[in-house]
Amino acid sequence: MFDHLQRLPVLFFFLLLSLSFSESLHENKESDTPISRFQQYLRINTAHPNPNYTTAINYLTNFANSIPNLHSKVIHLTPTSPLLLLTWPGSNPSLPSILFNSHLDSVPAEPDKWIHPPFSAHKTSDGRIFARGAQDDKCIGMQYLEAIKAIQTSDSKFVPLRNVHILYVPEEEVGGFDGMGKFVQLKEFEELNLGFMMDEGQASPNDEFRVFYADRTPWHTVIKAVGTPGHGSKLYDNTAMENLMKSMEVITKFRESMFDMVKAGLAANSEVISVNPVFLNAGTPSPTGFMMNMQPSEAEAGFDIRMPPTADPELMRKIIEEQWAPAWRNMTYKVNVAFLYAY
Ligand SMILES: [Zn+2]
Repeated sequence: MFDHLQRLPVLFFFLLLSLSFSESLHENKESDTPISRFQQYLRINTAHPNPNYTTAINYLTNFANSIPNLHSKVIHLTPTSPLLLLTWPGSNPSLPSILFNSHLDSVPAEPDKWIHPPFSAHKTSDGRIFARGAQDDKCIGMQYLEAIKAIQTSDSKFVPLRNVHILYVPEEEVGGFDGMGKFVQLKEFEELNLGFMMDEGQASPNDEFRVFYADRTPWHTVIKAVGTPGHGSKLYDNTAMENLMKSMEVITKFRESMFDMVKAGLAANSEVISVNPVFLNAGTPSPTGFMMNMQPSEAEAGFDIRMPPTADPELMRKIIEEQWAPAWRNMTYKVNVAFLYAY
């Protein structure tokens, strides 16, 4: 390479030098903007199954240390699950505090299906940035810090009334059990004395930010019917399929009654109990599919139910028990309430 350069005309060599100099100036300028700081965060691979939490936390801590009055603390929830807590002390720390939460991890990426490598944080000429975790959830984590930085830049004397905490949790995308699930059991969480908390929502493509004040709880529900097995040519009562299909009719009516309220504009999608069938499992297998002349002794169906915070869980359980899976129709049910759930 050096030999080759030596043969170049002197003028061209200077041109090259000046180009690379302006390039590095440009880079320095770029590395100091909210966009480039965001890109740097995106380039740290925190996707499952091997999220690099240490590098991400070091990066965020360094950024936080460059902002006056932000204190940082790393808490290890497990040996491999660290959490970063930043605190901006308020003038009256005895008041309930405000917490802004985001998660460090992201779902996996399949690089060969991406236009740009998922951890390159490539920015196109029209300003789009491609990276796994950009929307969910790294943009939020960076906006918290950039907002505090911007506030302090415009008014260096500004002190919030209450303590403001910014939290970066691990393991959210795999259920939160070794993340927020463990943190809320610690005295450090209790000591935050929270009055208000804000978590991720949906990324906004413009300057308008929608705030959601409720989240629905998933109830993963399976109902199972048993009945007398018999020949496919016979008509008789109390088969598993008949029992299940009666329940399906009841559930379909319930679903319609909820959806009708949405269609009539009386409630938002998020305000009603949504019920969607997700699987049906029945039949007696044969080498070519299913036995077509055999009424099976068991049949089950799975539903994704979403419960808004305003719905009564006891009443819902009663509906499932008495109408969707009544014991008198030889039915049983299982509800798996996912308290911690990754979105
Ligand atoms: Zn998320």
